Amino acid sequence: MRLVLVGPPGAGKGTQAEVIAAELGVPKISTGDIFRANVSGGTPLGLEAKRYMDDGDLVPDEVTNKMVADRLTEDDAQKGFLLDGYPRNTDQAKVLDRLLEEQGHHLDLALELVVDDDEIVRRLSGRRVSKTTGKVYHLEFDPPEDPESADLYQRSDDRPETIKNRLKVYADQTAPIMGYYEAQGRLVRVDAVGEVETVTGRAMSALRGHGAE
Ligand code: ADP
Ligand code: AMP
Repeated sequence: MRLVLVGPPGAGKGTQAEVIAAELGVPKISTGDIFRANVSGGTPLGLEAKRYMDDGDLVPDEVTNKMVADRLTEDDAQKGFLLDGYPRNTDQAKVLDRLLEEQGHHLDLALELVVDDDEIVRRLSGRRVSKTTGKVYHLEFDPPEDPESADLYQRSDDRPETIKNRLKVYADQTAPIMGYYEAQGRLVRVDAVGEVETVTGRAMSALRGHGAE
């Protein structure tokens, strides 16, 4: 299956993508993770991306689309994938459709995680990440063993001023892609409030209802 996971920052896309991709036997491809790996590695792509990520803005489409196109040529993505964090505007959605069409494929579904703004702010402000494993925790909802551990860090774009801009960017640029997918009958909406396992259950039954195995 070829899927994209969409929803506001902090909706739980990364958390759910991990489990859903494993259940479906496809790779999880997160543009945010790829950018962050490049930022940590100090690559030219990372240096370019960091300027936008620090402010909560989108990295320019030319850079992002090329990175995704390259990633989708890798062997593990030939039989399907779950994209997390891409597309983030209608142009990216159209570029992805064109790219898949050129390869004789098509996107099966867009899975939207629906969460309100208050919950998003709660989730983003409590998010902490392990430096060594990359595992994502939440101080309240999925607490790490030692919340004071030096291994944990807060993403620089999870600070209040940046969260505000990311929500604006989401509303202005990303939310319109739901209309794009809905018009094509490819949008599946899932209530993403509740325990992680409950949300996964809802997502899997929605996907199975649309032909996922
Ligand atoms: P996204 O990838 O959409 O930005 P994440 O998967 O990183 O979101 O989740 C954001 C934060 O919310 C993380 O700290 C995560 O542990 C927490 N989280 C994810 N799903 C849930 C849930 N169902 N209930 C409560 N907290 C959650
Ligand atoms: P995420 O981990 O999905 O929250 O992404 C973190 C940041 O990476 C975003 O705020 C953007 O700056 C950048 N980013 C991730 N995916 C995209 C995308 N599809 N288009 C543009 N920028 C992106």
